Amino acid sequence: MFKFLLFFICLFSSQAYAQSQPKILASIAPIASLIQNITTQETEFLIKTDLHDYQLRPSDRKKIEEAEFFFYGSDNLEIFTKKIQSNKFALDDGKDNPHFWLSINKMIKAGYKIANILGEKYPKQADFYLNNAKKFDSKMSEFLSSHKDILRKDVPYFVFHDAYEPFEQDFGIRSVGCIKVTPHQQSSAKKTAELLKKMDQFPQFCLFIEPETAEKTIQTFIENRTVFITELDPLGTEIIPVNQSFYEKLLTKIFTQITSCFSKIQP
Ligand SMILES: [Zn+2]
Repeated sequence: MFKFLLFFICLFSSQAYAQSQPKILASIAPIASLIQNITTQETEFLIKTDLHDYQLRPSDRKKIEEAEFFFYGSDNLEIFTKKIQSNKFALDDGKDNPHFWLSINKMIKAGYKIANILGEKYPKQADFYLNNAKKFDSKMSEFLSSHKDILRKDVPYFVFHDAYEPFEQDFGIRSVGCIKVTPHQQSSAKKTAELLKKMDQFPQFCLFIEPETAEKTIQTFIENRTVFITELDPLGTEIIPVNQSFYEKLLTKIFTQITSCFSKIQP
């Protein structure tokens, strides 16, 4: 009888929780993963690839309107959010570099922000969200401190697209230069010449490109040089499923790829 009763209590409370679960949508997978860490509920996201080229489709607009909470990076990253009025919550100001999720420190802050926003509307669950934000904080802080000193600081490297500044700030490294400042701008002849001159200083270096990088756009920079090219995917498109551990897997993957490229460069 007791077991039977317990079963009903569990059934009832899980149903009550399901009913009070907020309807949340994220812009990108790393944010969806962060939300899942805070809420433990599955979270959908809009943009799978080509973040900077993303165009808001009517079906996506509908999804945003139907969500109680739409969490995104900033107006500098998801430009389309300027056209959206309600239920939107930016997690970063986007001023330094809009790819904020590549900074563990910034994601920890964003976790607390999500917990606060959700807790205000759902006060009964406020402590639960806050506790989860703390758990995420300690998990990722530990990740950062255990990885930070492993990365070599003496390796010259260039990036195709300057998405990694937030990551670099956390880990104390910085690229020598970047091929394209914004993905759509054609680099000027002057900028290209400057960059080639910088590259001339190094007998060998790493170059981090992205899944969308076309070979012809880097040809000028790699011919007749010893360049170790690694493709990094800041959105983690190939990492599935997008669950609570997704974010840590994404960081681990980027970290491992950078470390492996750095190991090819002679000190
Ligand atoms: Zn980008």
